[in-house]
Amino acid sequence: MKITDARVIVTSPSRNFVTLKITTDEGVTGLGDATLNGRELAVASYLTEHVVPLLLNRDPHRIEDTWQFLYRSAYWRRGPVTMAAIAAVDMALWDIKGKVAGLPVYQLLGGASRNSLRTYGHASGRDLPELFDSIRQHLDEGYTAMRVQTSVPGLKAVYGVAAQHQSTGERYDYEPAGRGAQPAEEDWDTAAYLRHVPTVFEAVRNEFGAELPLLHDGHHRMTPIQAARLGKSLEPYDLFWLEDCTPAENQDAFRLVRQHTTTPLAVGEVFNTVFDFQTLIREQLIDYVRAASTHFGGISPLRKVMDYAAQYQIKSGFHGPTDVSPVGLAAQTHLGLAIHNFGIQEYMEHSDKTNTVFEQSMTFTDGNLHPGDAPGLGVELNEEAAASFPYQRAYLPFNRLADGTVHDW
Ligand SMILES: [Mg+2]
Repeated sequence: MKITDARVIVTSPSRNFVTLKITTDEGVTGLGDATLNGRELAVASYLTEHVVPLLLNRDPHRIEDTWQFLYRSAYWRRGPVTMAAIAAVDMALWDIKGKVAGLPVYQLLGGASRNSLRTYGHASGRDLPELFDSIRQHLDEGYTAMRVQTSVPGLKAVYGVAAQHQSTGERYDYEPAGRGAQPAEEDWDTAAYLRHVPTVFEAVRNEFGAELPLLHDGHHRMTPIQAARLGKSLEPYDLFWLEDCTPAENQDAFRLVRQHTTTPLAVGEVFNTVFDFQTLIREQLIDYVRAASTHFGGISPLRKVMDYAAQYQIKSGFHGPTDVSPVGLAAQTHLGLAIHNFGIQEYMEHSDKTNTVFEQSMTFTDGNLHPGDAPGLGVELNEEAAASFPYQRAYLPFNRLADGTVHDW
């Protein structure tokens, strides 16, 4: 079998997605997710101009060889654009292999290690009553674990809070990438945040009891010592994890955090390769791997990092916001079903428009995901629907402190 065609499809049903579609001489097609939120066209160009010409006439069954060829032959390694492009090829080839075998991808990865994947939803509110309503709504929808984010008194807009009620009426409660020529500017005050967050978790525990698993995302905004303080101050509220507590370009920073708190730590949604996790895993400085199949080079390298993590009892918590397309989400759902050291899967339902473009076999029942048993990844792209939603420029917001200094968003 040979690859005879590969095309990049950019579509914007509620938000932008970049998808690679590979076709073989036997007419089998495979899809891969190459969406890099806010920088989508860089990956589309990388694929179209530099990768697609290399794919033609290759054997689609040689997934590992193709991955190594694309990673090593460029000479320039790593980085989110490169690795999202390679991820799309990797996923599309797994999709093709599954379709040829007549098996869902999780069967090719060793078969199911569990019945389905527990997810956590995104509960948020500008104040406690709104947050409690959001938690109750998620419980009603079946979620059994919850990420909790709130506004901070004195700040106008805070990451992860669905304060913006959608004018379209769609269920789409959190999309930070705003469409427009410039990114939105938000404000930030770490001291106010550190004072406020423990009071929120105390109130949530008082209202919802001790058993509901609660998660929180710090969005890389704290220094290591601030992160350590937050982890320590949240210990009475028994978090499932504290996520992205400090930027992890410097993996050593997590030693300091770890020395001070037993709150479990998760990080890695902006990581591209196993090397970003090298120290964090080997020294057991984290508890959950937050990588996404899309930004980590695909299913093949994500499986390897999870095997590495398994030696240290570290589990998965794959990144799953709505900028991971249904194709990327399917890829990591198949992997999560197969690996032994699955932890939890982040899940935000895609919009109705997105679901008309990406037809999926995945199911969400009682808070749990299953990728379905369709051969391959179980996602097909409706190209006619995709074409009706042309790309729209969009940027993630950025932060400034009160004195005007740019801060991590
Ligand atoms: Mg995060």
